[in-house]
Amino acid sequence: MKIDLRSDTVTKPTPEMLEAMMTANVGDDVYKEDPTVNELEKKVAKMFGKEEALFFPSGSMANQTAIKLHTQPGEQLIADQYAHIYNYEGGGVSFNSGVSCKLLDGHRGMITASQVKNAINPPDFYHSPLTTLVSLENTTNKGGGACYDFEEIKRIKQVCDEHKLGYHLDGARLWNALVAKKETPLQYGEVFDTISVCLSKGLGAPIGSVLIGSKSMMEDAIRVRKILGGGMRQVGFIAAAGLYAIQNNLERLKEDHKKAKEIGAQLQKLSFVKHVEPIDTNIVIFTIDGDEKEFIAKMEAKNIFFYGMGQGKLRFVTHMDYTQEMHDYFLELLQNIKWQKKAVY
Ligand SMILES: *Cc1c(COP(=O)(O)O)cnc(C)c1O
Repeated sequence: MKIDLRSDTVTKPTPEMLEAMMTANVGDDVYKEDPTVNELEKKVAKMFGKEEALFFPSGSMANQTAIKLHTQPGEQLIADQYAHIYNYEGGGVSFNSGVSCKLLDGHRGMITASQVKNAINPPDFYHSPLTTLVSLENTTNKGGGACYDFEEIKRIKQVCDEHKLGYHLDGARLWNALVAKKETPLQYGEVFDTISVCLSKGLGAPIGSVLIGSKSMMEDAIRVRKILGGGMRQVGFIAAAGLYAIQNNLERLKEDHKKAKEIGAQLQKLSFVKHVEPIDTNIVIFTIDGDEKEFIAKMEAKNIFFYGMGQGKLRFVTHMDYTQEMHDYFLELLQNIKWQKKAVY
């Protein structure tokens, strides 16, 4: 049995999702004439209580567009040092927006209001870049799927208001936080100026992200999306998968969370596992005694696939296509695994 725990992006559309895609009504979305895309955008905007939303081919493009909307070249944004926008979007913050990042040393990818306050450059001190944006991530990817305390998110919002800073949420993994913390999209829509959400991570659609914000911001966003090459034509075929995913695959995220916790509990029992990070959602990060590259290779030989994250950290991500059958098999395999002299037997 092949078990792929590299990421929750490895899922494939189910027959029901494919059916929704094949029967979608489509039109030219560059002319805003694709009824399925329009429906998806309207639905997501409404979920978050915002005026408008815009469909994007990727989460990176949605985030990069938001950053461009909130900033001018030479300015600076504030984010955690683990932030996806800084680490995994190809340097797009500087390439696309000419903006620098003030990176904060947060806790599992999460920063606090007082950290943000201290990181704002004085606006009258023209030697340093002007701070104009704060970007949070929830759940945090590199932080191991950790979820913010919503009270802290509100405190950071206050700091943003006091200092007239834009407030963006990289919510590629927000669905997981909503389910884990029993929060609502409306709460988030009230606080943030812009939010990006992903349809192809936990929700199982093949492609797609949505950026949410005010009407005037989304009018500007469509221009930036065009510049970045993200204007798409009969893309309702893909938006249909996103609509299906939102309607059918949200609540089941808790199954992924449960499986992740069970994997974590099993790892805790293994003598060669040094540390397992707290598991809030569907990401399990742990460290082992010995060479992790060798561990990955030995597990691959057993048809178990996952990634190292550097600094000795290893990561499993549970998802829709990681079935209960796979889970039972994997737990048993973990239970019986032995790590002797840097080899798994
Ligand atoms: C996956 C992810 C993104 C976007 O990734 P794409 O591959 O560009 O869709 C953005 N932020 C976070 C936190 C993510 O996990």
